[in-house]
Parts: sequence; C-alpha cells; structure tokens
Amino acid sequence: MVIIAGSGPGPASLVAPELVSWISKSEVIAYDRLAGQDILALAPEDAEKLYVGKKPGAPSRSQDEINQLLIHRCLEGKLVVRLKGGDPMVFGRGAEEAEALAEAGCKFRIIPGVTAASAAAASAGIPLTDRRFSSTVALVTGHRAEDESAPPIDWNALARIETVVFYMPVARLRRISDKLIRAGRPAGTPAAVVQNASMPNQKTVVSTLGALADDAESANIKPPALVFVGRVVNIRRRIAWLEKLPLFGQTVAIARPIPSDPNLAESLARQGANVIETPTFRILPTDDLESLDRALSNLAEFDWVAFTSANGVRAALDRLDQLGKDARAFAGVRIAAVGEPTARALAESFLKADLVPRQFTTMALGQELATKYDLTGKRVLLLRSSAATAVLATMLRAAGALADEVHAYSVELVEHMPERLIQAARAGRLDWVALTSPSSVSELLGRIAAAGVDVSSVKLAAIGPVTADAIRAAGHRPIVTACPHTVDALAEAIASYGGATSVG
Ligand code: SAH
Repeated sequence: MVIIAGSGPGPASLVAPELVSWISKSEVIAYDRLAGQDILALAPEDAEKLYVGKKPGAPSRSQDEINQLLIHRCLEGKLVVRLKGGDPMVFGRGAEEAEALAEAGCKFRIIPGVTAASAAAASAGIPLTDRRFSSTVALVTGHRAEDESAPPIDWNALARIETVVFYMPVARLRRISDKLIRAGRPAGTPAAVVQNASMPNQKTVVSTLGALADDAESANIKPPALVFVGRVVNIRRRIAWLEKLPLFGQTVAIARPIPSDPNLAESLARQGANVIETPTFRILPTDDLESLDRALSNLAEFDWVAFTSANGVRAALDRLDQLGKDARAFAGVRIAAVGEPTARALAESFLKADLVPRQFTTMALGQELATKYDLTGKRVLLLRSSAATAVLATMLRAAGALADEVHAYSVELVEHMPERLIQAARAGRLDWVALTSPSSVSELLGRIAAAGVDVSSVKLAAIGPVTADAIRAAGHRPIVTACPHTVDALAEAIASYGGATSVG
C-alpha cells in the first residue's frame, strides 16, 4: 500500500498523528525536498529512504519514474509512505501519483498536510480570510513556466480576489506584481513575502505590491517562500507572535538518545529555538538478560528498587511484561527514583516512587536513602544502564545496604555529527548547547570541539549540578543550570537567560 501524504511546512509537530503512525510502520519512504528531516527521523531506522525530489544541478527523476518506483515497491507488498511538503493535493501532484497507482491496481490512501499558505497564515499572522477585509482567497502558482501545459492564469480575475497567495514565487516576484498591477490591483496594495513559514528561521517582509520585489531582494529572500497580497497583510502588525518567542532566532544543540526522549527538543522548539539534535547513544536491550530476569523474577526479596532514569524503568517494565508479569511484582518493595521523568515513567505503569530526592541527582538519591532510612542489612536492587558508574552502589554499601547492580539496558555510542551542527557552529550561529548528562558533555561538547569549533564562543546550559561539574571538568563554564533538574526547566532557563536564572 502507498500512503500519499503531506508532511506540512516543516516542523514534525505539524504532521497529522495518523501520518506519524504510518511513518513509524513504513518500510519505504519516498520523500521530496521540502519534507522535513525531523519527520524522516520518525521512520524506522531500517526503512528504505528514497529522496525523489529535485537535486540542484543534477538530473532529477521524472514524474513517470517516481510513479513507477511507487508502483514497484507497492507491488512488492511494501508499506510505502510517499511524503510531500505541505499538502499533497496543493501543488503537490498527489493526484497524479494516485491516478498512476489506481491504474496499476495498487492500494493507496491520501492523507492531508498543512499546506504552506495555511501554515504561513498562522505563523506570520496573516489570515487567508477575514470577515472585515477578505471573503475570497486564491492559491496561485508563481511558477507555471515549469509546466507550460498547466492552465494559464487569468490575471484579471485574480486582481479581483481579495487575498491572493502565490506559491513558488521567488524567481518571479517582479513579474507577479507587474501582472497584478496591470490587471488593475493598486500598486499600494499591502503585500508580504514569508520565507520558511512556521520554521525557527522564518523571515517575513511586509511591503506593497509595487515595492515587494525590491524589498524581498534587499532582504535576500530565498525559497521556500510565499507571497500574500491583500489587506489581510495589515493584520500581521497586530498579531505577529512567532518572532516574539524568547528563543526565536537562536540555535540550540542537544544530544538525542535513540530511541529519543523528545521532551527537551519540544520544550526548546516551543520557545522558538532552532534545535539541532545529535544522536549520541543508542539504547539497546541489556547485555546481561539472565541477571535482569533473575532480579525481576525475585523482586519480593528486595527491600528497595532504585531507578535512575526513565530508560531504566521502561526497560525493566518491558522485560517484566515479556516475562508475563506486571506491576504487582513490585508489591511490598519500596521504590526510589531520580528525577521527574523517571517518576513519570513509573507512573505510566501505575507505580509510585516512595522516594524521589529533592535534588535530581544519583548522589542525592544515595544520600537521602542513607539518611532517611536505616539501610543496615537491607537489599537494594539498582536497575540501571550498563554504563552507569559505581558511585551509588558504593554509597549504599557504605550505609550498610546490600546493593545489587543489574543492567536493565545497554548503551552504545553513536558516532554521528550532523552536518547542520558543524555548519552552524563554524559560522558562529550556534548560540547554545544544552547538556542533560555528564555523558552528553563528553560526547556532544567533545564532538563540537573536535570539529574545530571554539566552545568558549557557545553558551552552555546544564540540567543539574552533576552535568555542570562535568562541564567544568572539561574546562568550560556552564552559563545556566536548570532548577529543578528537568528538561522543561532547562529550556526555561535558556529562554529566560538574562532574566532571573540560576547562574552555575
Ligand atoms: N504541496 C505544498 C506546496 C509545494 S510547492 C504545500 O501544500 O504547501 C513548493 C512551494 O510551497 C514553495 O516554493 C513555497 O512557495 C511553498 N512552501 C512550502 N513550504 C513552505 C514554507 N515552510 N514556507 C513558505 N513557503 C513554503
């Protein structure tokens, strides 16, 4: 089956939930240039990813070749997602591909996406219609030359439509305004061009129909961009909001484990940041399943179980599930957890932590356990990663406990450095690196330094004191340290830098 779908204007958050679920199951993804990278990251690692868009300066695949490719993979029985920017049915040739599939007897579905005009209307504050100013709207291609067989544009009719939006206008700005003015639209009509709508690098130029081409040229507007013409453009002055987000225009690098915890990226993106994620570690099943199974099968023998990460909780509970057990296996055992995400992961399985230390650090967990409870002779199970340090176990043993360390999961290093990050860092456009663990200090910061970038020119944010110490140990200075030590607070601390943040 082929899912012909629109990925929206770029951010993964604007993709329809139904499409997310198809992408996560897909075996083949055939995508265009404007289908966002973040969206491709939702595909299974082993899915075949085929770029079928245009390559500047290289021959691109013809529509017929793309149709054949889709038909081929479909007939092989694969689940294919055909991903297009925006909406597949708006200047997207979605229908042409559906027709070819229908003719070849392939099953398909069409899933809408947020089209660029609609995305830009929201993100730039220029409505498509407005009962005070505009009852009609036209979506127009500014690039009919690409396909002269398309029906010609009736400029006289267009000049009478209140809101006119041009897709693919950049190469033809002067022609578009000349044609509209000659057809009777006044040169003083409000007009705007919106580049990278809804993206953290959105750029908007407000002008008039007569001056738009010059103004866009001086502002160095590049595709993808849209042109809006009509009185609705004036509304932007009062309701522009994206550019006012605290981190708008700032680039923040973060480490992304696989599978990822999207929370930090989402929190930063919500504040307007341009987030660059670097895969650093891959979470894998434990290297010692036997010990994990033994511990999980004998949970009742322990007085305490300590979790230091949400990954540890998920790995342990997934395994418990595979063993045919459920949360009742923890009956009578006290649970200690470091950090809110860990406690939240427990709550997903209806488990409540008995102890969540005020400081979200492993050291604090050890200290609170040892001071608040008598651990003499108590059995404590530590369900952690294969890379965890021995500090916690040592602290607990010093307090008289019998600490069992069991690997709930393994971590593997991912040697990857996104080109986007290297480019931003070298061009001096990397504003922040947000660090969520001591290991991200060595991996993310280490890799940025290894790429020849002067780390002292980048602001560093730490999720907590342990990460802040690791930053200092690496010879740098954390500018902010989040409090509480959560990803939301970390994003907040970066966003309000300069205001009332705790300086590390
Ligand atoms: N099917 C797509 C349009 C494809 S044509 C849709 O529904 O949006 C490609 C054109 O879409 C670009 O030249 C540009 O005009 C517009 N476009 C796509 N993404 C955009 C974005 N993020 N900001 C501004 N324009 C965009």
